[in-house]
Amino acid sequence: MTTEQIRSLAQVDRTAPTPDPRIAARVKALESLLIDKGFVTEEAVDRVADLYEKEVGPKLGAKVVARAWADPDFKQRLLEDATAACRELGIGGLQGEDMVVVENTEGVHNALVCTLCSCYPWPVLGLPPNWYKYPAYRSRMVKEPRALLREEFGLDLPESTTIRVWDTSAEVRYWVLPQRPEGTEGMSEDELAELVTRDAMIGVGLPKRVGEQ
Ligand code: FE
Repeated sequence: MTTEQIRSLAQVDRTAPTPDPRIAARVKALESLLIDKGFVTEEAVDRVADLYEKEVGPKLGAKVVARAWADPDFKQRLLEDATAACRELGIGGLQGEDMVVVENTEGVHNALVCTLCSCYPWPVLGLPPNWYKYPAYRSRMVKEPRALLREEFGLDLPESTTIRVWDTSAEVRYWVLPQRPEGTEGMSEDELAELVTRDAMIGVGLPKRVGEQ
């Protein structure tokens, strides 16, 4: 998604909750105090936030997907009980107590949304991107997912592909097992994991093709 597109979503986002200024002020005060006392550095705080947003979560989800692509028995267990299967790889925790993985197949594409707020499987995907919380995404994904995917995410699915939209909640957190890309026979799990993007696990994108950066 381009910055332009995110901005356009942001502009229609008039009902999104704004952070409570008192909590934000308290967090900021605590952070400055810790920095002043020399317990942490500002860079370290930014790094942790960045890590959680961009790396840890989606990297772990990618590891699970790669394992499922490489090991049919694991894939079976993942589809039957995602929380238990992730635990096998030491992955789990807060906001991932009841995860359900839905599989993309030839002809069926899955995508997730939280129509109420921003529920999301943190242990495998990290923190949700801002656009995931916008009413524009939450309502349009339900009403016209095909157009939303094409116009906002550049994912133009054939008319013959059925799109299933899963409403993630505090009780059940869905995420997507994308299809294994062609030409990946013989690749190691680490190599496979490199092809798995956060967006592919939300269902607003596809995994990278071999050789794609
Ligand atoms: Fe929610």
